[in-house]
Amino acid sequence: MRPLIVGNWKMNLGESAAKELVRRLLAALPFDRVDAAVAPSFPCLRAVLDGVAGTPLAVGAQNMHWEAKGAFTGEVSPHVLFEMGVRFVIVGHSERRALFGETDTAVSSKVVAAQRHGLSPIVCVGENEIERELGRTREVIVAQIQAAFADGALTTPDDLVVAYEPVWAIGTGRTPQPGEVTRAHVAIREALGERFGLPAEAVRILYGGSVTAENARVLLQATEVEGALVGGASLTADSFASIAAAATSC
Ligand code: PEP
Repeated sequence: MRPLIVGNWKMNLGESAAKELVRRLLAALPFDRVDAAVAPSFPCLRAVLDGVAGTPLAVGAQNMHWEAKGAFTGEVSPHVLFEMGVRFVIVGHSERRALFGETDTAVSSKVVAAQRHGLSPIVCVGENEIERELGRTREVIVAQIQAAFADGALTTPDDLVVAYEPVWAIGTGRTPQPGEVTRAHVAIREALGERFGLPAEAVRILYGGSVTAENARVLLQATEVEGALVGGASLTADSFASIAAAATSC
């Protein structure tokens, strides 16, 4: 499966820094062997979309509402994102779950809305530190997958992406052993298979959590890993390009 590398810029980079990073990424990423996307903050979407026009670098949003329009002050519509040229949306990131109260029900509604509006949802799942210590990783991520894809309106897994992101590994510099990553990805693949049958095989499952240029090869060559969701190391072209290169050699 062709790997997918996604950069989650979070609440970083203003317009000029975003444009400069795009310019560097377009020169550095191995587009012949990898699919790549960046997810800037909302105010930079226009500049980034203009910068990538006519290139293979795709653009994602970090969040969206599930309704297409209406009285939802401060929210962003999936329809408007698609109309702008956005093609991916991160859903259920652990920061949104933990800091902004994003529930499994909201995640499920957003997944359906994303698909309805032509956006590929990148659905984040992962256990926190205590759940890991209690040996509940599999149980937690399977429950998150079941909840995210519970809505009967979602009939196919087309264009779905899942990111396994252990919460304790995000932004901490700590990473799981490759074997743990594989076990989690296999559990996700099985849960997707139970929900969607054979077509679930086409869903790309990314690893995310403190991926760097230095550890990318080890993490991305774990079985069933089809790319990476990268936070901090996606903010410089050199590190993001090195991670992309590592993904292509796995
Ligand atoms: C993330 O927030 O999705 C992430 C993986 O962050 P980091 O790479 O910085 O751990």
